[in-house]
Amino acid sequence: MADVLITVKTSPQPSLKYGDTVCVAGIRIDGGRFDWVRIYPIPFRWLGSDQQFKKYDVVRVELRRRDQDSRPESYSPTIDSIERVAHKDKWKDREPIMRHVARTSTCEMRRNASVAHNAPSLGMVDIAEIVRFDFAKHPGWTPAEAKKIAAAMEMPSADLFGSRLVPPKLVAPRFKVSYRYRCSEPPCPTHTGQILDWELSELQRHLKGKSDEELRAAVKTRFVYQMMNPRKMTSFFMGNFEDPRKRHNFSVLGVYYPDRTTAMDVPLFDL
Ligand SMILES: [Zn+2]
Repeated sequence: MADVLITVKTSPQPSLKYGDTVCVAGIRIDGGRFDWVRIYPIPFRWLGSDQQFKKYDVVRVELRRRDQDSRPESYSPTIDSIERVAHKDKWKDREPIMRHVARTSTCEMRRNASVAHNAPSLGMVDIAEIVRFDFAKHPGWTPAEAKKIAAAMEMPSADLFGSRLVPPKLVAPRFKVSYRYRCSEPPCPTHTGQILDWELSELQRHLKGKSDEELRAAVKTRFVYQMMNPRKMTSFFMGNFEDPRKRHNFSVLGVYYPDRTTAMDVPLFDL
């Protein structure tokens, strides 16, 4: 069994086998280690409510190496084994773990991934500067994705996980959103990173009655002004794709943004 501090939960994507799945990642903390793990697939919306963990929960889960994926951090979970054992509610509760996580740069991750298919595929990157914040209309589900979603709605209840209830039909978010940013390695030429965080699609789902302009403003408030300002020390959780041809492309899986004072105040030797 592994104990994992969940730091990343991506937006659900249609899946033939599970209806829809999310990619989850976090820091494995049992045995005195602080290593990235990717836990995939997780049919998150189809789990029972007691298993629907939150970001910054510590989850105990049985993992096995995901052999078909050459990314070294990838594991498949035994869904029934997922158990929530703790929640790190405040930044000051998270910092004693997160300060042990190695920092890298997007420049370095891209260099490594372009020469080795098993290079690190998850990493924590300090951000030097946000250059742009871009919105693009989501084109909607492809016919193949729409077919998977329709099939999931018809899934016999014996095949369902957890609560055995079919969740609401998966709706594509209105916007795809990306940061243009400079990572911490000078002279960084800037990178574009699409935001795949579940929080982004949830926020759009909650604000579905708003105009495009209102929705863009709300997303920008959350993902720029609240996460990046002089009081915050902001890093991105970066990850790449399973497709070996796209390994050098890294997306923003989540944002870590403790207050500067919290990050400085937590004693170094408290574990
Ligand atoms: Zn860079």
